[in-house]
Amino acid sequence: MRKPIIAANWKMYKTFDEAVDFVEAIKDKIPSAEKVDAVVCAPALYLPTLVDLAKDTELAIGAQNMHYEEEGAFTGEISPKMLEAIQVDYVIIGHSERREYFNETDEAVNKKVKAALSHGIVPIVCCGETLEEREAGHTEEKVANQVKEALAGLTEEEVQHIVIAYEPIWAIGTGKTATADDANAVCGHIRKVVEELYGKAAAENIRIQYGGSVKPENIEDLLSKEQIDGALVGGASLQVESYLKLLEAG
Ligand code: PEP
Repeated sequence: MRKPIIAANWKMYKTFDEAVDFVEAIKDKIPSAEKVDAVVCAPALYLPTLVDLAKDTELAIGAQNMHYEEEGAFTGEISPKMLEAIQVDYVIIGHSERREYFNETDEAVNKKVKAALSHGIVPIVCCGETLEEREAGHTEEKVANQVKEALAGLTEEEVQHIVIAYEPIWAIGTGKTATADDANAVCGHIRKVVEELYGKAAAENIRIQYGGSVKPENIEDLLSKEQIDGALVGGASLQVESYLKLLEAG
């Protein structure tokens, strides 16, 4: 039985005070970690404070991106070693906004996944098709390629420690959600790809989230599907009440 994981992606929203108030407000209201994994992926600037606030609670803190190198002359970047040192548990890798606006390639995604794992940080690896690709019938091919590239060179053991987020690009921040059946079908296809690469046990254990306009009104339907193990949520994760509702559905 796979435990659902509900991850908030705050993107470039919230001031420091708003972020602190949010975590203060939810940290003692999180359902048991035996039932659901609750994660808040916050702007990097706030991570040490939020990790501190969430210590000894059921809430985990994640980053939204990182570099794959340990250290070096990479102005403005944050390394896996830095995230590990402040005890960040998760990092989103290869979000479509990073791929689109910051030219993140599949090769960079693969390096980041490996770097996160080698620092004990769980990568939430994003994949998903554009509307054009969906309409042309290329969804399965697109996500299969992204997943294969992201996982290239990982061992079966390592694959157990990653989370995949299937996020159709046309559904992110648009209010358009894939139907639960469509999302379930693509998550099932991703699981098949993992099975081809790593065998049945790895495929059965890996958690695959859906992301794209998830909200309290549609999360139960999505999570009722066999292949969907949680959600990566942008807009609806920004308000305390709505994020807590999402967790309750988990
Ligand atoms: C996201 O940022 O990954 C996302 C799915 O955003 P939204 O929930 O706003 O569509």
